[in-house]
Amino acid sequence: MSSAILRIAVPSPLRRLFDYLPPPQMSAPALPGQRFLLPFGRGRCVGILMEVAEHSELPLEKLRPALRQLDPQPLFDEGMMALLRWASDYYHHPPGEVFAAALPVLLRQERPAQVGGIRCWALTETGKATSDESFGRAHKQRQLQRLLLQHGRLTAVQLNELSEGWRTPMKRLVAQGLVCEQELPCLALRSDESDQPPPLNPAQQRAVDAIDAARDGFNTLLLEGVTGSGKTEVYLQAIARVLAAGRQVLVLVPEIGLTPQLYQRFTRRFDCPIALLHSGLNDNERLCAWSMARSGEARIVIGTRSAVFTPLPEPGLIVVDEEHDASLKQQEGFRYSGRDLAVVRARREGIPLVLGSATPSLETLANTQAGRYQLSHLPERAGEATPPNLRLIDVRQQPLQDGLSPPLLQAMRHHLERGGQVLLFLNRRGFAPTLLCHECGWVSHCSRCDAHHTYYARQGRLRCHHCDSEQRLPPQCPDCGSLDLIPVGQGTERLEQALQEQFGAAGVVRIDRDSTRRKGAMDTMLAAIHRQEYRVLIGTQMLAKGHHFPDVTLVGIVDADQGLFSQDFRASERMAQMIVQVAGRAGRAGRSGEVLIQTHAPDHPLLRRLVEEDYRAFAMAALDERREAEMPPYSHLALIRAEAVAQAEPMAFLSLLQQTIRQLPHAGVFVLGPVPALMERRAGRYRAQLLLQSAQRAPLHQLLRALLQQMEGMKEARKIRWSLDVDPLELY
Ligand code: ADP
Ligand code: ZN
Ligand code: ZN
Repeated sequence: MSSAILRIAVPSPLRRLFDYLPPPQMSAPALPGQRFLLPFGRGRCVGILMEVAEHSELPLEKLRPALRQLDPQPLFDEGMMALLRWASDYYHHPPGEVFAAALPVLLRQERPAQVGGIRCWALTETGKATSDESFGRAHKQRQLQRLLLQHGRLTAVQLNELSEGWRTPMKRLVAQGLVCEQELPCLALRSDESDQPPPLNPAQQRAVDAIDAARDGFNTLLLEGVTGSGKTEVYLQAIARVLAAGRQVLVLVPEIGLTPQLYQRFTRRFDCPIALLHSGLNDNERLCAWSMARSGEARIVIGTRSAVFTPLPEPGLIVVDEEHDASLKQQEGFRYSGRDLAVVRARREGIPLVLGSATPSLETLANTQAGRYQLSHLPERAGEATPPNLRLIDVRQQPLQDGLSPPLLQAMRHHLERGGQVLLFLNRRGFAPTLLCHECGWVSHCSRCDAHHTYYARQGRLRCHHCDSEQRLPPQCPDCGSLDLIPVGQGTERLEQALQEQFGAAGVVRIDRDSTRRKGAMDTMLAAIHRQEYRVLIGTQMLAKGHHFPDVTLVGIVDADQGLFSQDFRASERMAQMIVQVAGRAGRAGRSGEVLIQTHAPDHPLLRRLVEEDYRAFAMAALDERREAEMPPYSHLALIRAEAVAQAEPMAFLSLLQQTIRQLPHAGVFVLGPVPALMERRAGRYRAQLLLQSAQRAPLHQLLRALLQQMEGMKEARKIRWSLDVDPLELY
């Protein structure tokens, strides 16, 4: 043991492990998956033991001893260790950073893996016995009492989800002795309410059976069905069987998909501890949820992409909801796909995986076509809303009024007169994307980005959506002094203002990142929409996900062209998904919705397939295009990005990499670029990129490995900010 070498993954940009001698004292044998406190450079850091080796390539006297063993037991079991090693390899990301990303923040520090207390609130006996009437006009207090009666105890995170502005009334309840504060070691969401699973329709039943049949082996199932077709019900009943078999379940959702409605549905259905992992948690709560999953106490884990790293002693099923959603991919630092890692994890664990979507990604559809994934399709059920009727509006040569064509305006009036709600989708915040001087043609640019300022009329400000800098509206043109500054183009704020004038009586509301910034604002708006206080809804992609608007009978896509003429090869896929998702938010049983799509390209072949047939037909045509262009999923990409304050540096650095690649074995890999990024300057830095493309994965990854090795010795690589993105979602 004395000559044992600890090979440790240390959070450092270096793509290798570091050798240490054991610390002077160890309370338990050294096992892979334990954390050690280490001397590193002039400081110290926490690393994860990967293996205990007998020899080091370095002479023993050069090795430093670790300072302390932090965990008596490994934090990750062998399966998770293998998954993380695989991820480090596949994404060519430093192992120490991969392991750090998989740990809750508190465990990246010197802390013990035990969990501190979590504050929560519960009713006292008096509180339980207090009648509704005795609260008088303290409605909020009564609501809190009801919630506590229903749930037993609640933490701050849970209360934030369930109730708005709960802190002050809660303090009053505590002061009156109706509620007590407790510190609990750990807590999972649980509800005393329960609901009974409905009998499944035949398609749902087949899906649940298919998942069940794969219980003892890996199988990926694509569950395809529009919003409301019963996908979540399939998850719930498949999960019930897995829980009954004594196994745990992991459910991954996109950031915006983790709505209170979703987990209320879970807590009502299952009488077992459920751990939530999302960005709203503080560090302690995150550690708590993670520990409960790891100990096996939590039987279900619902979380966003990083939850794919949650240790589970008895995994039985993984579900990825809205598998096409881009937020399942981490876009900075360790750039991994939560969905793809879920596939890898399920295969390693030998358990079934369900990918659910109304608009599956082209990657997933190609895998289904190739027979790698099994398809379960949920048709809309009889008696349910008939599928919305999509129609294109050719806006060429039409007089547009605030971006709206006469046919769309007429349809809005028609639907409003008949008592329906109207939803207008425009994926552009602010009043106008450009502010222009009518005298001299000056345009307000962000000084730090190659981008126009977005004009916010109500606040009288100019804001850059790329670096978040903002400034007051200049009183006159800075170039010629003219007062004639005009906003050009449509944003949601402008649309809102224009519609106020025309349809104010119907109630106009705007839902975007600006109007929902204040906590609880979103819930308030949604509630008012459900009460029909607003009948004209304007929104960005925030509206396309998660929420359902049963009274909406007309959906207007104000500008479909954004997605058709972008340089990004995925833009049309995203646009089609967005249109279908927005359309799916509308309507209810017996009422079919109408969807009008404004475009300058009514003959665009992909758009026609979508409108005249359906998403499937669109996707098949889009896949044909991808095959011809040799783009993913028919090829594999890796993107190297570089950025610097000096304009020439990123291009020079990437050219150097390109030359290095030429000297390495690179058969089968195309090297495209380097080119400046489409928006070259952002937040004061110039950006460029080099794209590697290959029909096969293996040569691409071999080349990347060799290239990264060369780069370790390259002094230029240490001076510039660069990153590698394997399977990038965004190319520009
Ligand atoms: P999705 O996840 O595809 O949007 P859901 O599972 O949420 O669909 O189902 C939509 C609605 O239909 C929900 O209110 C759900 O409770 C209900 N539902 C789903 N399946 C059934 C079923 N077999 N019988 C009755 N109601 C169902
Ligand atoms: Zn001017
Ligand atoms: Zn900017």
